[in-house]
Amino acid sequence: MACPKCDFVYSVPEVTSNERAYCHRCHTVLIAPRRKAGKQIIALAASVLILIAGATVYPFLSISVGGQTHSASILETAFAFSGALTALAVAVLMFIVIIPAVRLVLLIYVLLPVIRDLALARYAKPAFRMAEALTPWAMAEIFALGCAVALVKLADLADVAFGWRPGCSPPWSFWWFSPKV
Ligand SMILES: [Zn+2]
Repeated sequence: MACPKCDFVYSVPEVTSNERAYCHRCHTVLIAPRRKAGKQIIALAASVLILIAGATVYPFLSISVGGQTHSASILETAFAFSGALTALAVAVLMFIVIIPAVRLVLLIYVLLPVIRDLALARYAKPAFRMAEALTPWAMAEIFALGCAVALVKLADLADVAFGWRPGCSPPWSFWWFSPKV
C-alpha cells in the first residue's frame, strides 16, 4: 500500500485491533483496525439514507413571519430555482441528494459482504473507487452549514424552526402534490 500523503510504498503489515500502522516518513495513520467498524459504517450509511429521503420530500425548515408560515423540503428548495437558474436546481439536487445517496448505497454494497465474511461483491472494487471519487462532490454538510448560517441571519426577522409545523402546508404535500386540508 502507498501512503496517501507522501506516496511511500509499504508491504501491508499485520495490524491487530489495538495497534495502528503509521507512515514512518510523514506519520499519517495507514491502518487503524476498529472492531465492528464495517457494521457501524453500514448502520450510519443506512440512517443517513433514510434521513436524506425524509429531508428530500418532507419539510425540513419552516419560517413564520407576520402570521404567514411557510415550510420547505429539499425538493421544494431545489425547484425554487427556475428559468435561467434551472441548472442550479439540478446542481443542488445532485450535490446534496443524489451524489451523497449514491455514495452511501455504494458503501453499503461494498461493505455488506465484508461484514458477513462472504466473498467481495462482484463490482466491489470499482464501486468503492467510485464512492471514494464521489466524496468531494457530496456536499450535504455544506448545504446544512448554509442553512445554519441562514437560520442565524433570519432569526431576528422571522420565527425559524427545523421541521414541519402546524399551520403551514402538511408534511405530505410534495412539490408535485399539495392537498387542501
Ligand atoms: Zn507518508
